[in-house]
Parts: sequence; C-alpha cells; structure tokens
Amino acid sequence: MDRIYLDNNATTRTDPAVVAAMLPYFTEQFGNCSSAHAFGAAAADGVRRARRQLQALLGAAAEQEIVFTSGGTESDQAAILSALATQAGRDEVVTSAVEHPAVLTLLGHIEKSRGIKVHRIGVDARGRLDDEAFERSLGPRTALVSIMWANNETGTIFPVARLAQQAHDAGALFHTDAVQAAGKIPLDLAATEIDMLSLSGHKLHGPKGIGALYLRKGVKFQPLIRGGQQERGRRGGTENVPGIVGLGEAAERAHAALATAWQRVRGLRDRLETELLRRIGHCRVNGDTCDRLPNTTNLAFDYLDGEAILVHLDRAGIAASSGSACTSGSTEPSHVLRAMGLPPIALQGAIRLSLSRETTSDEIERVASVLPGIIERVRANSPLWQERAAGKFAGVPSYV
Ligand code: PLP
Repeated sequence: MDRIYLDNNATTRTDPAVVAAMLPYFTEQFGNCSSAHAFGAAAADGVRRARRQLQALLGAAAEQEIVFTSGGTESDQAAILSALATQAGRDEVVTSAVEHPAVLTLLGHIEKSRGIKVHRIGVDARGRLDDEAFERSLGPRTALVSIMWANNETGTIFPVARLAQQAHDAGALFHTDAVQAAGKIPLDLAATEIDMLSLSGHKLHGPKGIGALYLRKGVKFQPLIRGGQQERGRRGGTENVPGIVGLGEAAERAHAALATAWQRVRGLRDRLETELLRRIGHCRVNGDTCDRLPNTTNLAFDYLDGEAILVHLDRAGIAASSGSACTSGSTEPSHVLRAMGLPPIALQGAIRLSLSRETTSDEIERVASVLPGIIERVRANSPLWQERAAGKFAGVPSYV
C-alpha cells in the first residue's frame, strides 16, 4: 500500500536534494567553521551560503540578521527572553491564546516564576485575533508582542505587519513565530517592522534540529545560549554545519517553489475540502477560510472522536493529525479550538490534514474517496452520534 502523508504541519519529508547538499559537510567539509585553516574555511563557506539563502526567503535586509538555532522552540524562547531582558522598565508580554506551546509554555512558566504579566489575546470563531482586546492590552509596560504568523492547527494567518506597527507605537518589540508560515507564503521582512522571527528546518523539507532566528539590525539581543563567539556572540556552541547547509538548501527550494507550487497545493486543498464537504454531511471547516495557509484544512466532525477517525485513516494508509503533534497524546482538547469557542460537542472531533508541495492529485482523490466511508463507520460506532440521531441533543448549540 502506498502511504499518503497529510501531516506536513507536524513535519515534512527531508527533500533528497537537501540531504545531498548536507552529506559532504559530514565527511569532506567537516571542519569547524570557526577554525582558521582550509577545512574551517570550507565549512564557513557553507554557512555563509545558507545565511544568504535564508535572507532571500525572508526578504531580510542583511544576512547578518540571521542567527542559526536548534529549531523553532529555541528561536521562540531566545526572542522572548531577550526582549524581557533588554526592554528596561517593561515587564509585560502580549501574545495570543492560540500560540504554539513553544511560546505559551514558556510564558506560563515565567509568569509564575518571575511575575511577568502575560496578556493572552483571544480569537473569534474563525480564529482571528480580537483587535480591540489587542489594542487595549498594549501600554507603557509592554516589553514584547509575540503573535504567530500562521496557526499550526487551523492555518489561520495573522496580520503581523500591522500588529508589529501597533507594537512599535507602544514602544514594544515585535516577535513572530513563523514556523508554519515560512516557505508556504511570501514573507517580505524588509517591508515590515517585525523585529524578530522564528523558523524551523523540518517544516519546510529541511532537517530536524535546526532553525533560525531573524533579528533585525539594531535590535538589542541577549543570547539564550552563552558560550563561544559563534553566530557573532548571539548563540554559543559549535555550529551544526550540515544542518545549517540543509536548512539553507531547503529555504532556497521553498523560496523557488512559492510562486508556482503553492498555487497548486492551494488548489488541491480546496478541491479536497469541497469534495469532503459535499460527500459528508454535518462537517465543516475550522478556522479562517479567507486568510489561511494554502496547505492546511482543519475539519470538524461533531459528536465524534477525532482519534478514532485518525486510527481508521492510518489503517487506510493515510497519515493525518488531530492538531498539534506536540500536544497530541494528551486527552485535552485543542487549546486553539477552545479559544475559538467551539461548542463542547465539536472539540474532540477535529482532524487536521496538511499538504505539502509533494502532495499529488491522485493522493487527494484517494483521501476524498476513503474519508466519507470512515466517517460513516465511526458514526455508526459512536454512542453520542446515535443519541444525537435519536434527537437527544435537540436544542444543543452546534455549528453544523
Ligand atoms: N511553532 C510552531 C507554530 C510550530 O508548529 C512548531 C512545531 O510544531 C514549533 C514552533 C516548534 O518548532 P521545532 O519543532 O523546530 O522546535
């Protein structure tokens, strides 16, 4: 059975061309890029090229604005902790209620341990930020605004360019977690006021355990990891040269694919959604269907257990997810869907299908033909669904 992978927001397949670009940096150009000899210079060349490749993907003004890290989580933490350390007299952070745990868990921790005030701005039923609450939360004590560019569960895109301006008007720094947005939509940082941005290699067909923090020139920074003078003193530790080279190659390929490949992916996602909504009754899309990543669909099946749907899909050779991979395994409903105010009967029955530029039209056809039967079987075995069919929940609010 050919397996179909529709969980690309959890991680992507490393592009074989990325692996090929990395391999020489394990065996031939294995030098430490801080070394003065030829081996070091060869490794440093690879790192310099990768920095330029990332600069191009981000539309950053200078290659020195890129700092390599171990991934999205480290970049998020470095940005948040640095802003709190460098913004004298300011001890509040504004964020959204739907950020990734990489942001929310850290903020929850420092709220308790350091007495930092955290404003978690809510979202509406489509996952869009509450603009009025956002404005009200900004003030002379705001050190940092950290709002994701695009949500990992629903794909909803936030208006980060405007939010960055508003943060600056209040004298605060602006950070965005662009781990899901990078490589899927154009990011032209030089045209925005964004101060810091996080991205991760494994979400854009690069290797795992490597990422980057964009740090606008002139923004004060305190390193999270102190050590040697690597990364201009902004991140200690010998550089992961093969990982950096792989991230650079992945960024270049993602950048080149932006114009064409993503139009095709959007078309496939829209076709899948249309077909599923047509073939399956009582199903809807969670999230903002206008401002949304082109690869993501989050589908709600009220009264059902999303995990049961996923097990059936997996048996049929289709990999999907119930939300964020980092929180799956917990029985807690998604904090994103809860923040969107989904009714309790809808919270457990959501599944996320996330495509990539490798997804084919045939795969989408197969999913569209297999999923309706799976939903029928799961409904037949769902006591809640049967009770609903018998009219037990008449009058219970539902979006279906
Ligand atoms: N931020 C978002 C929005 C994500 O989706 C993820 C990964 O799931 C991360 C951060 C964490 O990135 P990494 O796995 O590189 O630490």
